[in-house]
Order: sequence, then C-alpha cells, then structure tokens
Amino acid sequence: MSVSITFLGGASTVTGSKYLVRQGAQTLLVDCGLFQGYKQLRLRNWTPLPVAPHQIDAVVLTHAHLDHSGYLPLLAREGYGGHVHATRGTRDLCAILLPDSGHIQEEDAAFANRHGFSKHAPALPLYTRKDALACLKQIKAHDFSRTFEPIPGWHATFFRAGHILGAASLLLEVAGRRILFSGDLGRTDDFIMNPPDRAPAADTVLIESTYGDRTHPQEDVLAELGPALHRLAGRGGVAVVPVFAVGRAQELLHAIDQLKQRGEVPKNLPVFLDSPMAIHTTHLFEHYMDEHRLDAKQVRALTHCATMINTPDESKALARRHGPMVILAASGMATGGRVLHHLALYAGDHRNMIVLTGFQSPGTRGATLASGAPSVRIHGRDVSVGAEIVQLQSASAHADAPQLEAWLRSLPSPPGQVYVVHGEISAADALRQRVEHGLGWRALVPEHGATWPA
Ligand SMILES: [Zn+2]
Repeated sequence: MSVSITFLGGASTVTGSKYLVRQGAQTLLVDCGLFQGYKQLRLRNWTPLPVAPHQIDAVVLTHAHLDHSGYLPLLAREGYGGHVHATRGTRDLCAILLPDSGHIQEEDAAFANRHGFSKHAPALPLYTRKDALACLKQIKAHDFSRTFEPIPGWHATFFRAGHILGAASLLLEVAGRRILFSGDLGRTDDFIMNPPDRAPAADTVLIESTYGDRTHPQEDVLAELGPALHRLAGRGGVAVVPVFAVGRAQELLHAIDQLKQRGEVPKNLPVFLDSPMAIHTTHLFEHYMDEHRLDAKQVRALTHCATMINTPDESKALARRHGPMVILAASGMATGGRVLHHLALYAGDHRNMIVLTGFQSPGTRGATLASGAPSVRIHGRDVSVGAEIVQLQSASAHADAPQLEAWLRSLPSPPGQVYVVHGEISAADALRQRVEHGLGWRALVPEHGATWPA
C-alpha cells in the first residue's frame, strides 16, 4: 500500500509544522507545531485537524521550538493518548517551553476577557499550563542514530540537525519507502551549536526553507556586538536585548563573555539574564556537551558572566540600578514577557540601546523597532523611542540557502522527490528553484492541507 503525506502546517509558511504520514490504516504525525504570527495564521490553531487525535498512532517531534511542538498539549487533551517520540534534549526543552506556552495562552485569554474584545464570552485559552504538564508524560526519549519503532513495522532514526539542543532530522522507513524530514537545520558555522549531520539516503525529502532565499553575512556576532557594547559602556547607557530563551540567549551570553575576555568590552560591564526559561536552558547545556561547540569552562562561563534574575521582584528591582548595564530578557521579538517592562523604561533615552537579534516577524514590536519607528506601543500606551537601535544580522539559528543546498548534496544519491516546506512562499519558492535548477531534482512547494505521495 502506498505511503502519503498530508501537509497540515509548515506548508507555504514558517510556523505550524505538522506532517501526517499515512500507510493503509496507520497514521503517524511528524511535528505538532503551533501557528504563530499573523492572526489569520493563529486562527488555524482553533480549527480541528482533519484527523481525530485518537486515530493517530504515533507522534514524532524533530525539536522543541513551539512551531514544532506547541500544539501537543491540545492534541493530547483532545484525545491523543500514544507516545510522543523525541530526542532527550527535545524532551527536556519541551518540559521548559510547553508549560510556559500554556501559561501565555491563559494570560492572553484573561487579557481578552478584561478588555472585552473576544467574540466568545468568556474567551478560553487554547490550552492551559495544566494541559501542557499532562502531555509531557507521553514523551519517550531516544538517542541520536538509534533506530526505534514508533508503530510496529515503521522505523525511525534521529540525526543531528544543529539548530538548538536536541534538534533532529528524522528518517522514517515504512513500506519500503525512506522519507527524510530535515527538521530545522542549523548553520554549519553556528556560533555555539555543532553543524548538522550528513543526510542519510532517502526516496523523499522534506526540507525547511526559512532562509531559502538568503545568504548569511560573513560578519560574526562578535564583530557586530563588540563595537556596540563598547559605545554603550562609554556613555553609561542601558542595553535592552530581547532574546529567545532557547539558543539565542546562550549565544549572546557566550558572545559577551568572549568580548570581555578579549578586552573589547569592559570586564566590569554588568550583564543580567532576566528570563527563568533562559536560565533553565543555559543549565541544560551542561547535559548535552556533544551537541554544542562550548567546552566545560565556556559552559560554566555562560552562567557566571551574567547575574541570573529569577523572580518578578528581582526583575523590577533592576529599574533602580543605573547604567551602564546590559539586560537580556524574553521574548526575542518583544511580543511579550519581561523585556516589555525594560523597553517601556529605557527605550526613550538616547544614551540607551536596543539590540535586536535575528529575524523580526512582520507585525511584532521587534519589527516596529527595527523599522526605526519613533514610538512603539507597550501595555496600551505609546512609548517614544530615543535609544540607539542595533540589529545583529549575524544572529540566526538556521542554515542559509547555500547551506541548505549543501545539506541536500550530502545525500548519498538523489531522492525521487523533494518537498520544500517551512518557509514563507518567496523563500520556499527560491529554494525550490535552487533544487530544480541547481541539483536537477524534482521539487515542489506543497499547499496547506495538500496530500502528496511519500
Ligand atoms: Zn526551530
């Protein structure tokens, strides 16, 4: 019986990754992501899947980012009772990220109710922190390169994808077909993570295309951040750095530590990491020494080069300090989290600095700041922006187009079909052309909801 893939997310968009693989009556879901960004996309999270959750036989996650894992609490609450297969790193990161996601959903619903802008009264969260904690029990952890059977007769193997701790590409073997899911691929020249493994042989490949139309600049994060922090220290200002708790926060901490050691930034410049999730993730780096480039001393430096801020009271107390200082806080695109309080406080003063790291999705406060807007709306009021805006172009956890192509070229032989996924339409189509014309392989960009042979 033939094998098919239905693209339930991550098709012609970056978020919501969900690939339903079917063979006869058996069904396996690869990734279980939330749609994020524009409202039109987020509304898809509320539409039931075309398959009843209890009819899915197994779920496999490539990594813990919410656009790959964040729908899991809902899938489990709506009736999925089977295992969720993942690497050990992904299991540990899901235990940090999913309960927080539930908490945010609850806060959003409460906010909508307070301000009465929900069509439904009362507005309900997509899922709760409790739902998220419950689904964690279903995660079954596996080692890289060790084949397991998620469904009797189906074989699955994780390969290292770089990107973030635990991130994997997945080879699925069923009914004589070898299907390779790239997952999110890291950079070969990543500042802290190891490069992805070579791709194994496959008949069909799904490849991500976040930067399918882009080549990363040669400059590294040290060359961009060093002069900026030197300027900041000289004028006694405060740098607010919105960061993602997983990956980006650690990359920035390592960069600051290196700059201090080289003497390019004053050793006594105070640095604060104001994100409990980022603090937990930083400690996880000690447990997965073979996934990143840092040695034991450098990992210890991550936790020592900044003062860790755990409680909301400690966070508020930062406001009584004077510059110079650097505050790293989530979220990375300033869509929520503790960084908003710091931005509201410090964005106005021209001695201060806002350091944006990596891609800022259209519609987010991060994108507004990046565009040079004179003000930004925070907690219902307009905050004027006088601070210097610095954008770190080099900070990205994704392979660029040449690196994506190089990963495909590492396949031992050409696959019969490539599906280009996980990219905005222009990026996905640019990579499709690269695969078709550069490699001479069959490639297409699937539409949302489409079903194709595997
Ligand atoms: Zn990712």
